[in-house]
Amino acid sequence: METNLWKKYKNNSDLERFCEGYKTFISDCKTERECIKYAIAAAEAAGYKSLRDLIKSGEKIKAGDKVYSVNMNKTMMLFCVGEKPIEDGINIIGAHIDSPRLDLKATPLYESVDFCMLDTHYYGGIKKYQWIATPLALHGVVIKKDGQAIEINIGDNEDDPVFCISDLLPHLDRKPENKFKEVNGEDLNLIAGTIPDDKAEKDKIKTNILNILKEKGIEEKDFFSAEIEVVPAGRARDLGLDRSMILGYGQDDRVCAYTSLMAALEVENPEYSTMCLLVDKEEIGSIGATGMHSQYFENALAEIMNIAGQYNELSLRRAMANSAMLSSDVTAAVDPNFMAPFNVATDAHFGKGLSLNKYTGAGGKSGANDANPEFIGWLRKVFDDADVTYQATEMGKVDEGGGGTIAYLMAKYGMNVIDAGVPVLNMHAPSEATCKVDIYEAYRAYKAFFASKRIK
Ligand code: MN
Ligand code: MN
Repeated sequence: METNLWKKYKNNSDLERFCEGYKTFISDCKTERECIKYAIAAAEAAGYKSLRDLIKSGEKIKAGDKVYSVNMNKTMMLFCVGEKPIEDGINIIGAHIDSPRLDLKATPLYESVDFCMLDTHYYGGIKKYQWIATPLALHGVVIKKDGQAIEINIGDNEDDPVFCISDLLPHLDRKPENKFKEVNGEDLNLIAGTIPDDKAEKDKIKTNILNILKEKGIEEKDFFSAEIEVVPAGRARDLGLDRSMILGYGQDDRVCAYTSLMAALEVENPEYSTMCLLVDKEEIGSIGATGMHSQYFENALAEIMNIAGQYNELSLRRAMANSAMLSSDVTAAVDPNFMAPFNVATDAHFGKGLSLNKYTGAGGKSGANDANPEFIGWLRKVFDDADVTYQATEMGKVDEGGGGTIAYLMAKYGMNVIDAGVPVLNMHAPSEATCKVDIYEAYRAYKAFFASKRIK
């Protein structure tokens, strides 16, 4: 477990190709909806059929068949029917596709001194000062009253304008309350324009921006039925002189979402059924119709078992209880600049492969899904047999803090769950860093897990 994986993967063209695909994914997919759109196209190309279409046509499914289901354009399940009955359990891998960001408010536009501004409400755990004086893009959708959807994607094409939140110059921030670290939520306002519409009687600059929006079919009131996310502009890049790492937005948890999805696309005729879950709202507690708390997981599984001719209430409950799950979510990598909260001996390191957190939670394991040793013993064999390198880790020193994932929400069905993901530096910052060998090893680990023979 102590090996640095670069010994194995230096100049490995498969790894480089995989990571190029990953960089494209996180550069193009900066919202849940963009991730789902990508995943649907990839799933269909890999032979997955729409659950909704199958229900409509009455077509039945059998061992080896692949089905996908989408919930509200923000949650997705990819399922491959195993040779064994589904009630014998499913090998599940679940990642989240939401990332910390700023959201435009429902009434975002206002005018202040010489500017038109866009008001935001941040989403998830951000350090607010990191989001100011940096180029930002708007991604999302506006829904008109008649149901028409207008897609928004401004700031990521070369020719696009970008947005930014202004910051105070150092010359004027001598008072402690003006220091950058004192940024609060209501200060996170995007600068959107300075040209006035001289025909307007008041709010001339805001009116001019509304004129521009009108050309795109958007009116001020439409922001109420919109979901517009403010994300860092620009593409993911290689990090370091040796190009060993990747710097980009949204790697918590799209690095695990991508690796899980790629593993799911390659599943062929598994012995036990496989499921890949891509879920929303993890960063704000997994609540809501598209979060892991929702009944969506059970409902979609029931539908799939039904068209496989294997549904009844008891079989559904058995399927869930007999399942095994990798909660594929990132963990914190030991940081060379901020060593204090880390225990170097027990925390995750770049270059040492998939990170397995037996438990997360905070102080005294509070709120943790503490994985069972019987399950971990079996997993060790799965990974060792597939020559997968992994590290047994925690997240930070005891009592330094902590965090959660979707693991406990799946464990409530009585299934075995463990957190298994990629170590990340600068987690929740506009630019997060990962190490390429860890990404590739996570993908290999997820493939081995989907192919595994025994699940309990
Ligand atoms: Mn996460
Ligand atoms: Mn997170």
